[in-house]
Amino acid sequence: MPTFNTSPGTRDILAPESARWRAFQQVFADVVEHAGFAHIIPPMFEDLGVFLRVGETTEIVTKEMYDFDDKGGRRIALRPEQTASVCRAFVEHRPVTPWKVWYSGPNFRYEKPQQGRYRQFDQVGVEVLGVDDPQLDAEIIALAVEFYRRLGLRGIRLSLNSLGDSGDRERYAAALRTHFVSHLDALSVESRATLERNPLRVLDSKRPEDAGAIAAAPRMADHLCDAAAAHFASVQAALQAAGVDFVIDDRLVRGLDYYRRTTFEFVATSLTAAHTAIGGGGRYDGLVADLGGPETPGIGFALGLDRTLLACDAEGVFAAPATVVEVFIVDVTGGAQAATVCSQLRAAGIGADRAYDARSMKSQMKVADRSGARLALIVGEDEVAKNAVTLRTMETGAQQLVPRDELVAQVKTALGR
Ligand code: ATP
Ligand code: MG
Repeated sequence: MPTFNTSPGTRDILAPESARWRAFQQVFADVVEHAGFAHIIPPMFEDLGVFLRVGETTEIVTKEMYDFDDKGGRRIALRPEQTASVCRAFVEHRPVTPWKVWYSGPNFRYEKPQQGRYRQFDQVGVEVLGVDDPQLDAEIIALAVEFYRRLGLRGIRLSLNSLGDSGDRERYAAALRTHFVSHLDALSVESRATLERNPLRVLDSKRPEDAGAIAAAPRMADHLCDAAAAHFASVQAALQAAGVDFVIDDRLVRGLDYYRRTTFEFVATSLTAAHTAIGGGGRYDGLVADLGGPETPGIGFALGLDRTLLACDAEGVFAAPATVVEVFIVDVTGGAQAATVCSQLRAAGIGADRAYDARSMKSQMKVADRSGARLALIVGEDEVAKNAVTLRTMETGAQQLVPRDELVAQVKTALGR
């Protein structure tokens, strides 16, 4: 028989890691719902056109998209990110602004799989549509910082930049093109190809041979119009007022073409190799209009769950929560008693499991041991005759006989509840 493993770049998330994922999403939900964000669940696939708006010169679109024709002849793509879907939803439903939403779920990119880089990976994120205020930029960034704090992460570096308004971006791109064209010999083959499509993206190259030309390149800061420069100054002031540390990195361009003005990235200093970026975001003041909606400013961030958990591993924080049952029922009288006791305990909010197949006492006790339950409830002929159950504390081996009608109360006491 053929056997199957997961496809490259995908993984099964098994317990206890799966419980950690759920806790991660719960902590995020708590942080952002306390800040007035509402949950949105966009579909995992959409018309390809939605994602083409992300930027036809970005690798996400040109190389990494999972797109295909469905049986109805539609051109479909699995979402590579969720900002475009949120903006499409905004145009489709026209909610009142400011529209503040958060999301959580998988994205799909055809990348070269490696540690911290997968073809299916999860993100949590927020988007706010309809607000220009630089105070919001700072608040959004502070929310992500608060989330990292709740996870227990300490080694987070926040890089900040402004990409200016669209006119600035174009002027800067032209200046970059001129610069890089005059240093063509110093660029890698890949960066020369990138230069053709989008000179800004050359700044994102991590190839050592490009470092010199990048270091000598013109600076975005010198190409900001007054309005963009003032906005950026206000964002910095608001971050300082909020006590959020950051470093200005004017080489930070980030993956998506639609960013304007504020852009930021979070790097985990505990991680090495090519996957240190654990989240990022920024303003995308043109995206809603590109999707056929009214001119609407937007800002948001996406945090990579998979990589952030690697950072948690590296720092030894945010351990997986225990998901073991509290009570294990050992019934050597056929199993019907175990069924009753189990449902009684579960209905009372106590985690309970049992053995099956009328195994011997010894073999059932072994399963009880392995389950990690703190208490075992033992039902034998003796107990049935006395209408009672033996309650055993697994750690100490101490046992006591408990009448059936006191069972739930006694178990709760033994669990310290
Ligand atoms: P990178 O430069 O590492 O490819 P990116 O710029 O493509 O990242 P974004 O699109 O901004 O990433 O997504 C935000 C976050 O999502 C990243 O900071 C990262 O933590 C996570 N992420 C992106 N792609 C992947 C992937 N293939 N596997 C795991 N996490 C990812
Ligand atoms: Mg990428």
